[in-house]
Amino acid sequence: MQDSFSTPMMKQYSDIKEQYPDCLLFYRMGDFYELFLEDAHIGARVLNITLTGKANGKGGRIPMAGVPYHAVDTYLAKLVKAGYKVAICEQLSPPNKKGLVKRDVVRIVTPGTMLDEKALEKKEHNYLISLTTKKKNIALTIADVSTGYFATTEITSDFKNQIIIDELSRIHPRECILPEFLYNDPEFLQILKTEKEMNIFPYAQWDVYATDAKKFLHEHFGIATLAGFGLENNSLALETSAALLGYLKETQKGPVQHIKKIESYTTHDYLSLDRSTIINLELFTTIREHDSRGTLLSVMDGTITAMGGRLLKEWMRKPLLNKNEIDARLDAVEELFEKQPERSKILALLKEVSDIERLISRCSVGLGNARDLINLKNSLEIVVEIKKVLKQFDTSLLQKLETMIRLSLTNKSLETIDGIITLIETIIVPEPPISIRDGGMIQKGVDKELDKLHHIVNGSRDWIFELEQKEREKTGINSLKIRFNKVFGFYIEVSKSHLHSVPKNYMRKQTLVSAERFITQELKEHEEIILTAEERINDIEFNIFQKTLSQLLEHVSLLQETAFTIATLDCLVNFSEIAEKKRYVRPEINLNSQITIRNGRHPVVETLLNDKQFVPNDVSLDSNDQQLLLLTGPNMAGKSVYIRQNALLVLMSQMGSFVPAEKAEIGIVDQIFVRSGASDVITSGLSTFMVEMVETAHILHHATSKSLIIMDEIGRGTSTYDGISIAWAVAEYLVSNKEKPKTLFATHYHELQALEEQYPKRIKNYHMSVSDDKGEPVFLHTILPGGASHSFGVAVAKLAGIPEQVIKRANELLKELESRGKAKVDFVSENAEGVYLSHPTGVQINLADHLIHKELENLDIARMTPLEALNVLADLKEKLQLFTKENKKYIEAD
Ligand code: ADP
Repeated sequence: MQDSFSTPMMKQYSDIKEQYPDCLLFYRMGDFYELFLEDAHIGARVLNITLTGKANGKGGRIPMAGVPYHAVDTYLAKLVKAGYKVAICEQLSPPNKKGLVKRDVVRIVTPGTMLDEKALEKKEHNYLISLTTKKKNIALTIADVSTGYFATTEITSDFKNQIIIDELSRIHPRECILPEFLYNDPEFLQILKTEKEMNIFPYAQWDVYATDAKKFLHEHFGIATLAGFGLENNSLALETSAALLGYLKETQKGPVQHIKKIESYTTHDYLSLDRSTIINLELFTTIREHDSRGTLLSVMDGTITAMGGRLLKEWMRKPLLNKNEIDARLDAVEELFEKQPERSKILALLKEVSDIERLISRCSVGLGNARDLINLKNSLEIVVEIKKVLKQFDTSLLQKLETMIRLSLTNKSLETIDGIITLIETIIVPEPPISIRDGGMIQKGVDKELDKLHHIVNGSRDWIFELEQKEREKTGINSLKIRFNKVFGFYIEVSKSHLHSVPKNYMRKQTLVSAERFITQELKEHEEIILTAEERINDIEFNIFQKTLSQLLEHVSLLQETAFTIATLDCLVNFSEIAEKKRYVRPEINLNSQITIRNGRHPVVETLLNDKQFVPNDVSLDSNDQQLLLLTGPNMAGKSVYIRQNALLVLMSQMGSFVPAEKAEIGIVDQIFVRSGASDVITSGLSTFMVEMVETAHILHHATSKSLIIMDEIGRGTSTYDGISIAWAVAEYLVSNKEKPKTLFATHYHELQALEEQYPKRIKNYHMSVSDDKGEPVFLHTILPGGASHSFGVAVAKLAGIPEQVIKRANELLKELESRGKAKVDFVSENAEGVYLSHPTGVQINLADHLIHKELENLDIARMTPLEALNVLADLKEKLQLFTKENKKYIEAD
């Protein structure tokens, strides 16, 4: 490649580009960043900018496209969003006539390392992860370089792939780096691609950092052991952490000193929500519109600060398991709820706080300016005010937040907020410019030489101002003026009509259409004084700024802790605000196995209903008694809303929020599983039914007596008999297995109601009440004990606008089928041979005696792999088909 470049500049370009083959190179030339060759083509296409050419000596012209430096952030954001990495190559020496300007890459921008405010979602973490796997182990490290967050985990599991999918969906990263061997494994890559918005890159330097991971991490964190982080022996997690830190240092071209600690977590530290649950509960996006409106987050997020917004998402992704921690949040929310005037004060103050977390991060990687420091100072002043208000609260969490805001009015060391405020205040002027290279940032009295230089500059400026007056008087030219520009420096301008009065000592410098510009020896001398002094001023100010910044950055942890305090307070205040606005109540958290809710409401549906009244409902679940509620009722009756609302209330409670209900008693839940047979979550290459079954297998393997399962129309994706059989067997398994997860089971297979008789202590039938208005259903949305008897399917089809002719024919068929069914058996009956179930086709299934039932009963699902489970399913399906054929013969013979 190098040979084709003929000019020295293009040779320099080529040398630099060679070091960053996987990046687009933004090569700074004056006021532009230029892209060349293939990069130029990509830039022109993605950024919609003009493709031009640049002369390349004997090599002819080469493709070029450029963007102006002042708008670079917008272009960078676009490229990164499109999945490209960009290396920013700056001019490192001033342009001069003699030789080539020195240039080098100062930063690499990737989707997971963006720091520009415009490109980042305010209330969204920008996560970058590194991931590797070995045998049954997976390790994962997560970083948000925009906030300094750094956490890692190592997991051992037989269900590695599922765990990766679930973790990715919980973290929702923008970028993932991998060792090359994994990147080259197409099957593994396919798993990662389930996380659609994540960019995946191999990291060529992985092994460099992984080989001596411990040493590298020890050096960065300045410690001799990682045991304090609970990490010393997790070799794979050390590897991902070292690789990620190495990658950050390389992309930021600096020490990333705001990464201060590694948080080591396990997936058992929080209420676990797998991918399907996050999707089906519509926590962050809706299933159909992929929109953030209509989600739980949209209802619960009234946070004021960006930091609070990000933390709230974390709380939703990781609800708590520990009763004391949940109660601490609830106590705080309750106190804030009660002390309305103080809450209003805090709310008003929070509005004034900037995004301290991102501000510090920008400063840490060398992107900060004096305005950032002033912003930081202003925010910290508000934080001091917040501390004063917090003193009026008694609950432990609020008191803890108050003490976390460290203040020492006597000894203003940098270990305290007021120390930092004082430092910034004494050094930086209140309204500094954006640039840190052009002076104007530093207060008087900070540096003696600086003050002297300012004095000199001011003296010379005054002299020049006076000179203008003097020269006017001397020459009699009233329009004479002295001005400055970057090319000629100071000059005297005289209009053409007065040229005859110009004295001899004026030296002509430039001719314009209507005027001439001159200099004098004296003017040149003063100009020299000013320019030299200004250059020195800029240098001194830049150095003072950098020194101040590094002083501050030594206390990054204090600032990060303060940011976290504000974020936490914002979330708690938010919870009490929505509790008041939406009439939520404090849930009672306990360690028993019951969930009892009186008059619960779906937080999102009740908001969307506007003027229509949401009908509240009760629930009572208990691992020991009423363990599985079997809910029947026609479509549109409100089954999905009801079963999901209960899961959401548990989730909200464990986040520490009040809930939409009259009363709620929540026995802490370890995992929530939500599955929907009607969902349109389709993973490539698998049928909807297959996905449903794989996911169901996952629940059966992992649910414990502390788990909550929501099954919505499971088995719907296959033929009726398969569907009933699977739903039946799954329900049976859930109540007869060793673990007794609490389950809400909605189905339109009325046949399943027979299960209540088989498991009277464990399974209870409920239905959504619907009244019949001359054949038209009126949905009352109230849950009542007992099973539903009428499905209203055709009536619902009519409501949906199916043509009259089709409805009429459907009713005829329904009547006929029903009468045939009646002729065989009543809805559910029992005889010596066991439980019989009827179906609209009139076909009988005797599951109780059938060998399929026996087979299902004998299955030890906990010991099966998903593949084995699928093989058994296929086998059962075949047997069922045989059985169905025989039944058909039986009916026809009848
Ligand atoms: P199903 O799952 O039985 O088919 P859904 O749960 O999807 O029915 O509910 C259908 C619609 O009924 C919802 O979109 C909502 O508008 C309304 N709905 C459900 N439950 C209630 C309720 N408790 N109060 C008021 N409206 C409700």
